[in-house]
Amino acid sequence: MDYGARWYDGALGRWTAVDPSAEKYESLTPYAYVGNMPVKAVDPDGREIIIILGRDENENISKTVKYSNGKLYNNDGSLYAGNDRFALYVKSHLTKLESLEDNYVREVVSSLASSCYSHYIEGNDFEYGGATTSPLKSANSANEGVPQGSFLNIPETEELFKQRLGKEGVEFSSTAIIGHELQHAYELDQGLKEGEYFIKNSADDPSEQRAVNFENRIRRALGLKLDWSYGNKEIPKSAREDISKKRSTKDDAPKSY
Ligand SMILES: [Zn+2]
Repeated sequence: MDYGARWYDGALGRWTAVDPSAEKYESLTPYAYVGNMPVKAVDPDGREIIIILGRDENENISKTVKYSNGKLYNNDGSLYAGNDRFALYVKSHLTKLESLEDNYVREVVSSLASSCYSHYIEGNDFEYGGATTSPLKSANSANEGVPQGSFLNIPETEELFKQRLGKEGVEFSSTAIIGHELQHAYELDQGLKEGEYFIKNSADDPSEQRAVNFENRIRRALGLKLDWSYGNKEIPKSAREDISKKRSTKDDAPKSY
């Protein structure tokens, strides 16, 4: 396929020539396409929470808005006046999180919104799966504690969200689940490396335990019953934060887990 600057062999998944901008990305092989993350194809320049609204025919991001302080902005910094359903959906969740009676939750969201790294949120309409967070650089660098941006993928509507991630016997809250993903994003942003990221996918994974604690912090603030299940297991009691205790800032992190 002719991408203009060079040709791409879709069967091999390789370019037939080096990237003309290769000197800008010395750490990557010059034959790789968007750092081997073609599904993401992000070009980090945003320094904010960025909501992806559209992609072009090559799957490159073509339309975004940024979230800051309860408002959406266009790339040129002007206020977003559109009514894209997903943009407004994400905005309502982030605004809700920033208004909760929990300083720590508010701090996580506002740190991401003013971060020097880019945190992307995109909606999916998959018939399976749910909400995921990936490091923008790589899982290895995240495990080494390299601060970086993130890529969140969530169901694109409330209906789909409930269908994919609702659990029997648990009052559903997409806001709490989005909070769970934002806690992952925050750890990537801060370069926290306690526990391994995105390798084990279980209730024993410390990063999942922290995300479930954060989720319950939100559930408590919303007046919902706590939910300690992750996958088909429960987060061990020793790894549960005392949610009834208010946590004022990130420096006030509980030491016990
Ligand atoms: Zn998680």
